[in-house]
Amino acid sequence: MKHTWFEIKVSDILNSKVTDTLSFENKMIPELPTLSKDGVSWEITIQSLDEDSLFVTLDVECVLDETCDVCSETYQRKVKIEWYTAKYVTEMEEWVRDDEDDILFIDIKNWIIDIEELIYHAIQLEEPFVKKCEKCAAKPVEDDDYDQY
Ligand SMILES: [Zn+2]
Repeated sequence: MKHTWFEIKVSDILNSKVTDTLSFENKMIPELPTLSKDGVSWEITIQSLDEDSLFVTLDVECVLDETCDVCSETYQRKVKIEWYTAKYVTEMEEWVRDDEDDILFIDIKNWIIDIEELIYHAIQLEEPFVKKCEKCAAKPVEDDDYDQY
C-alpha cells in the first residue's frame, strides 16, 4: 500500500511562489528494514524556483538497528542529516548535468512530489563503509600487515 504522507501536493507552491515547511514524525519506510520502531522524523522546506521547479531542503533523523561488521553484535546507529538539498523538476532538459543536487521529478498528472525516495536516498548516503558498534569504533584500528614491524 502506498503511504500518502510521502506525497506532497505542490500545485499551490508552484503557482504562488511560496515556501512551505512540513514536519513529519515517526514514519516507517518499508525500504529501510533496519529502521527502529520510532521510524523516521523529518522536516522538509519546499521553495518554488519558478513554475516548473522546486528546491527542497530536508532535515532527517532516525535510528537504525545495525549489525556490527567487527563483532556481529547489534547496535543502534543514529542518523541525523541536516540541510540535504534536491530539486524537483517537470523536465530534465532544463537542468545542467553537473548540478550537485539530486534531481527528481514532479508528478505533473497530480502535481505532487513523492519524497520517500529522497528521504531514502539521504539516509543511504549516510551509510558507513564499515559498520561498527560503539565498542568497536572506540578500539584503535589494527592493521594485520603491519603487526610484525
Ligand atoms: Zn562491534
